[in-house]
Amino acid sequence: LKGECLCRRVSVEVPAAPSYINICNCKFCRKSGAAWAYYDDHTITIVGETRQFIRDDIDAWLVAHFCPTCGATTHYTPTAAHQSERTGVNTRLFEQDLLAGIEVRFQDGRNVVDENDRFVVTATGHIGDGSAF
Ligand SMILES: [Zn+2]
Ligand SMILES: [Zn+2]
Repeated sequence: LKGECLCRRVSVEVPAAPSYINICNCKFCRKSGAAWAYYDDHTITIVGETRQFIRDDIDAWLVAHFCPTCGATTHYTPTAAHQSERTGVNTRLFEQDLLAGIEVRFQDGRNVVDENDRFVVTATGHIGDGSAF
């Protein structure tokens, strides 16, 4: 499965369609505009230049990566202080038809400020059902 940013300078390839997609309303997710799927970092391929952003208002555990030309969020990686193999990929880079039927989990993360804080799933849907994406 392969997706591109808006200007097509950055592509993201993952080994398979995700089993679910997270749409979350924590500060990081809302302001990055992403709908996440998760992969082991060694299974994804990013081609093209990206820039990084790390929050400085909290003990950030995620590095946001984005296209410097069009600004689209491409993926996130863990910060050096919070090692993890889990990478988040912005599934909004993929054509919606490629994601049809995949479960979407709407998560309430408004109170999340620490990597151990809990996210609560408040609703679910499926891509293409008219209520998710
Ligand atoms: Zn771009
Ligand atoms: Zn979030």
